[in-house]
Amino acid sequence: MSRTTASRTKVVPIPVLGRHHINAYLLLGRRPVLVDAGTPGSGRKIHDAIAAHGVDPADLALIVLTHGHLDHFGSAAELHRLTGAPVAGHAADLGQYRSGRVREPYLPTGPMGRLLARNRKLHVTAEPCDPEVVVRGELDLDGFGLAARIVPTPGHTAGSVSLLTDDGALVAGDLIANSFMGLLPGRPADPPFHDDPRRNLTSLRAMLDLSPTTLHVGHGTALDPARARKWADREHRRLTRREAGGRLPARTE
Ligand SMILES: [Zn+2]
Ligand SMILES: [Zn+2]
Repeated sequence: MSRTTASRTKVVPIPVLGRHHINAYLLLGRRPVLVDAGTPGSGRKIHDAIAAHGVDPADLALIVLTHGHLDHFGSAAELHRLTGAPVAGHAADLGQYRSGRVREPYLPTGPMGRLLARNRKLHVTAEPCDPEVVVRGELDLDGFGLAARIVPTPGHTAGSVSLLTDDGALVAGDLIANSFMGLLPGRPADPPFHDDPRRNLTSLRAMLDLSPTTLHVGHGTALDPARARKWADREHRRLTRREAGGRLPARTE
């Protein structure tokens, strides 16, 4: 493969809501790639933010969806229309992408999720989108101008994926988040929901084993991998206690 040594990829957060309450990411390699597509109705905002970084949105090589939750694929159809870029999503979340509906009920990871589950905004539908690039395993993005690969990281949803650049940046979607959806920057926490917390933790640990340099998440600021690793160990103990008490719900279908 004709990969040059100048393969550094810049990771630029694109705020969708608040300063880092909900993020999409613009990855700048040989070509620009967008990761995640915000809430329904945020397509124009994301489009304009891409342009504000000096990138012609029409040059986007790909829109990668990390998973089938509304705050990550909500404006995928609109951004596809605005930019012409193909959309990539994992096969296991195609039902959500093609219907514009999330899988209900949301399974809360704690009090924050139980509170949020009542928020009407989590139960609206998005404009359906039909990913042209269906991810079924690891997918090298060199052909899309990015020195990076998509890695399936199931658990948060069955079709959750992360993007790992060759220089070690991990764009992790909702594999892990900041406390209170970014209100405590830099402090690792569960996002409000996981379809399967144990499977998600296994995916998180597998990614941490690849020694990423930084974790860029859907909710909050960048996380230090060493801190995330310590948090994952605590989370393992917490899940083990809950499993022992029969208090760990997970979607099984
Ligand atoms: Zn999510
Ligand atoms: Zn999210």
